[in-house]
Amino acid sequence: MSFEGKRVIVTGAGKGIGRVTAEMLIKRGAHVVALTRSAVDVASLRDELGCEAIQVDLADANGTRQAAIAALPADYLVNCAGTTELQSFLETTVEAFDHLHAVNTRAPMIVAQEFARSLIGRGLPGAIVNVSSIAAFIGIPDHASYCASKGGLDGLTRVMARELAPKGIRVNGVHPTVTLTPMAVKAWSDPAKAAPMRYRIPAGRFVEPAEVAEVILFLLSDAAAMVNGISMPIDGGYLIA
Ligand code: NDP
Repeated sequence: MSFEGKRVIVTGAGKGIGRVTAEMLIKRGAHVVALTRSAVDVASLRDELGCEAIQVDLADANGTRQAAIAALPADYLVNCAGTTELQSFLETTVEAFDHLHAVNTRAPMIVAQEFARSLIGRGLPGAIVNVSSIAAFIGIPDHASYCASKGGLDGLTRVMARELAPKGIRVNGVHPTVTLTPMAVKAWSDPAKAAPMRYRIPAGRFVEPAEVAEVILFLLSDAAAMVNGISMPIDGGYLIA
C-alpha cells in the first residue's frame, strides 16, 4: 500500500495509535500533518518523524477549526485523538461528559467538515477514518462518558458516509478493543479489570497499536474503494464471543 505523494492529517498523532499510524504512513510515502496537544510531542513529531505538526487543544472548538484549516490541503484524514476519564455512571460529572464529547465527538466533526469542504471545493476524492472503540457497542463500567462519546462518533461516521460518498469521500470507523498505549495504561492497568476483558477475547490478547494502524491504512487506501460507512471491530473476536 503506497501513500506516495499523499498528504494525511492525523489527529492525536503525539502518542499511541495516532503516532504509530503517522509512522506507518510516512514509511509508505505520505506527508503527515499531525494535530496534537502537548508541545513535547509536537517537537518530537517534527524532529523524529519529519511531520508537519500543529499544536491544538481539540477540546477548544474554535482552535480546532483553525488548526484543521491550517492543516489543509490533504487527501486523507484520520480522526484518532481521544481521551477518557474513569467515573461510575452515578458519579459522572457534566464537566467530564462535556470534555469527552468535545474531544472524542465534536472535534472529529469539525476537522472532517473543513477537510471535506476543501476536497469538494477542489473537486478531489478522499477518505476519512474515525477511530472509535468497541466501547461504542458495549457498556463498560466506569466509561459512561467514553461509551456515549464513541457512540456519538459512530452516528457521525454513518451520516458522513451517506452525505460525502456521492462527492467522492469515503468515511469509515475502526473499533479496537484494549490497545497497548498510554490510554490503556490509564484505563486498564488494574489487573482485576483487565483479566476478564482479555479472557473474553478469543485471540487471547490485547491489540498492538500497529494492528490498528494497518486497518486504518487499508480503509484510507484505494484497496478499500467500495468500503464506506462500516464500523470495523479490531478485537480478536471479542464481539462474537
Ligand atoms: P493515547 O492517550 O495513547 O494518545 C492519544 C493522543 O490524542 C495523544 O497524542 C493525546 O495528546 C491526543 N489528545 C488527547 N486529547 C487531546 C486534546 N484535547 N487535544 C489534542 N490532542 C489530544 O490514546 P490511544 O492511542 O490509546 O487512543 C487513540 C484513539 O483510539 C482514541 O480515540 C481512543 O479513544 C481510541 N481507542 C483506544 C483504545 C485503547 O485501548 N488504547 C481502545 C479503543 C479505542 P496528549 O497526550 O498531549 O493529550
